[in-house]
Amino acid sequence: MVKHLRERDEPGEVSLQKFHKQAEEIDKRDRVILKNEEEREVFEEVFDRRTRMVLYDLANSDEFSYLNGVISSGKEARVYWGMRSDGTDVAVKIYLVASSDYKKRMQYVVGDPRFTKIRKDSRGVAELWARKEFTNLKQCSDVGAPVPRPLAFLGNVVVMQFIGIKGLPAPTLVDREVTKADYLQAVKALKQIYQKAQIVHADLSEYNMMKYEDRIILFDFGSAVSIQHPLAQEFLSRDVDNLNHFFEKRGIRIIEKEKLLASLNRGVTLPESRRMLESEED
Ligand code: ATP
Ligand code: MN
Repeated sequence: MVKHLRERDEPGEVSLQKFHKQAEEIDKRDRVILKNEEEREVFEEVFDRRTRMVLYDLANSDEFSYLNGVISSGKEARVYWGMRSDGTDVAVKIYLVASSDYKKRMQYVVGDPRFTKIRKDSRGVAELWARKEFTNLKQCSDVGAPVPRPLAFLGNVVVMQFIGIKGLPAPTLVDREVTKADYLQAVKALKQIYQKAQIVHADLSEYNMMKYEDRIILFDFGSAVSIQHPLAQEFLSRDVDNLNHFFEKRGIRIIEKEKLLASLNRGVTLPESRRMLESEED
């Protein structure tokens, strides 16, 4: 009996030591990732161990050297200003594992043929969201659409081109004066994304478009879906509404919705299910 207890004790002690050692290692890692003491405290409160490991791995594979500070903290993600070893800036978007908001947004994933394996646990969902944003940005970037260039993703983290100067993000359209040329650029971007990348943004608004050196950049692609998604046309119609309402409010002459949708859909082969529905309606 005594022997039995001792046998159990020893490994217990060893693992306590191991635990302390691990805690020390994590502390060291966080120091490497974030230099600022205050930021580090928040960082430790907000992110779980796995997320901090993922960031450490990304830093080790030279996707960035360290994080300078947080740019934005939303309900689902925090965006950090990261610094690469060559001195260039990157945006590091970290999806929160603890966010409860994802459930509402499952409709943006279910039915997208690109994502068929859907994990329901909170880490799985955060990782899926990061993978989805990266994939969307890649498809858009590959056809030359104006979006932040995606650089890497791992776990629940996406690293992308920083749009702005020295950690200061370019203002979104809601904070800028806009012109007819801006509207036409946004329409062109929408066309490239829809026709060439075969993606619908699905959360397009003046808050998810930046103006940087007179160029309109679309971002925040976590919700974006394949044009094959069963709700793609609904999302597209809403995107066009949001775009038009915003520019119209700002006094810009807009292209009428039906005309814009028709021009977007010119030459696009709708998915089989959609075509069948449309011919039934005729
Ligand atoms: P929200 O919930 O507010 O929509 P979000 O969590 O979906 O935010 P994004 O909309 O992608 O995250 O980004 C939030 C903010 O972070 C942007 O408004 C912008 O200021 C900054 N940001 C995001 N991506 C970049 C980038 N690539 N370069 C520079 N700043 C960026
Ligand atoms: Mn956003």
